[in-house]
Amino acid sequence: MLLRMSSLFLRTLRDDPADAEVPSHKLLVRAGYVRRVAPGVYSWLPLGKLVLDNVGRVVREEMNRMGGQEVLLPALLPREYYEATGRWTEYGDTLFRLQDRKGADYLLGPTHEEMFTDMVKGEYSSYKDFPVILYQIQTKYRDEARPRAGILRGREFVMKDSYSFDLDDDGLKRSYEQHREAYIRIFERLGIDYKIVFAMSGAMGGSASEEFLAPCATGEDTFVACHNCGYAANAEAVTTPAPPAVPAGRPAMRVLDTPGTPTIETLVDYVNEHFGLGVTAADTLKNIVVKVGTPGSDKTEVLVIGVPGDREVDFKRLEAALSPGIPEIFEAADFEKHPGLVRGYIGPQVLKDLGITYLVDPRVVTGSAWVTGANEPGRHAADVVAGRDFTPDGTIEAAEVRAGDECPRCGSPLSIDRGIEIGHIFQLGRKYADAAQLDALGPDGKPIRVTMGSYGVGVSRAVAVIAEQRHDELGLVWPREIAPADVHIVGTGKENQVEVALQLAGELERLGLRVLCDDRPGVSPGVKFKDAELLGVPTIVIIGRGLAQGVIELRDRVSGVKEEVPLDGAAARIAAACAG
Ligand code: ATP
Ligand code: MG
Repeated sequence: MLLRMSSLFLRTLRDDPADAEVPSHKLLVRAGYVRRVAPGVYSWLPLGKLVLDNVGRVVREEMNRMGGQEVLLPALLPREYYEATGRWTEYGDTLFRLQDRKGADYLLGPTHEEMFTDMVKGEYSSYKDFPVILYQIQTKYRDEARPRAGILRGREFVMKDSYSFDLDDDGLKRSYEQHREAYIRIFERLGIDYKIVFAMSGAMGGSASEEFLAPCATGEDTFVACHNCGYAANAEAVTTPAPPAVPAGRPAMRVLDTPGTPTIETLVDYVNEHFGLGVTAADTLKNIVVKVGTPGSDKTEVLVIGVPGDREVDFKRLEAALSPGIPEIFEAADFEKHPGLVRGYIGPQVLKDLGITYLVDPRVVTGSAWVTGANEPGRHAADVVAGRDFTPDGTIEAAEVRAGDECPRCGSPLSIDRGIEIGHIFQLGRKYADAAQLDALGPDGKPIRVTMGSYGVGVSRAVAVIAEQRHDELGLVWPREIAPADVHIVGTGKENQVEVALQLAGELERLGLRVLCDDRPGVSPGVKFKDAELLGVPTIVIIGRGLAQGVIELRDRVSGVKEEVPLDGAAARIAAACAG
């Protein structure tokens, strides 16, 4: 491959695009890799396409190596498959829905469990056919609420999705492990720094699910890690160890006059000063009301959530815990419709009578005593004991997670960081096979319900993640395997530099290297150097003033090390540098 910049469809920009917040977005646009078409919708220009294809190639090679077979399904899908599993409605506003000329409903595929299940059902019927792993690298569509950060979160994006089909749980575990290992190889080859964390298995049953997260300050995912035992989980999946139940024997609940104490801080100060309770915010029980909507319906249900007063409810954790239910803020108008819920003074004592579901943080164990609302304006109650004065309907993981919280596995303090999800592996189980009645005929002639796994890699997102993790103040710094070229030759000067640059480029191309050559006439050396740094090809060769003395300069974009080498024999020298 030899790309000549004199004719390459590329324009670099000096300034950051106005809508870009994160480094990868700024750099990919400035370096002319991608261009925005609509929110979360981007075009790939030649250099960007090369990088995207390189990521796709690595993913494909590793999927093939583990025994996956590549297929390609449509992105335009009829409604009925997603209707059968409930996802036509459950997906809510994230699903792109459309109609054909006859008024039939279609969607643009956000993920393809339904379609793969149906495809396997169409072809396979005997236990002898299984297991099988199928994958595709394909464009997905999701009408994301907050498309941001360029191609990190697109509404149209490229994903590798694969699906495993096994006859039993052990088979599923094996397919899952194979994917886990393939993903480790993929992200290692892509030069992505990653962490494997436990993820929510959601409404699909308690099976295993892990995410590959790229630690990154601009990431939208929060995850915890334990440096003692290695436990790591995304914030939605972190479980809170319940303290031991407290023995009975607390004094009876009493109601206190606490005028002007609508917040936890004012309450704690007041009860300590006036009643000498000696409590902290963690001893108070804060009760948050939400409405929970069901996708595809206008009905909502009122839910109260109790958390220790020193913690906020984390909306993302709440959403994940209630999924596919959708929590919504309880507005002033909603309070008017529920006079039993006294805003700012809600206590769980009355919820049973009101017929309202009450879920608590796991720290609210049986026997624990709390200061909480007395369900009257200006009044609170003390010694309100769980299991005696109120009985929750269950627990919920919705309280915020904080650095220093106890590791659920070993009790050590957890650290907390941000990351970007680059891959997800998931033991689905039989949900989709049940919906499609995907069975294999067993050796005894009895049907066996197939069990599935589903596994995704964000292919286009990976490009942005690599840019996010690998750049400096000058521009992009691609790992070689992903870079749009192995070597970027800059010819600059008024003599025969450009001619020599092109000759060297031809030689390197014949040696099998992928070459980008800056042969643009009338462009200053400064601009050419800046562009080379911005574009981020790992090896830069400068053919400039030194040519008169028969030397050219070799620059390593990663280490910044510069070295003069004789033009004579330079091709072999450069090829060796590119080989690592
Ligand atoms: P997120 O939590 O970031 O929205 P997700 O959990 O919805 O992602 P999956 O359904 O697990 O994503 O999709 C598999 C992979 O596809 C993800 O690990 C991620 O790398 C990628 N991906 C998901 N949504 C997007 C998007 N909007 N833009 C780019 N890549 C995405
Ligand atoms: Mg995911």
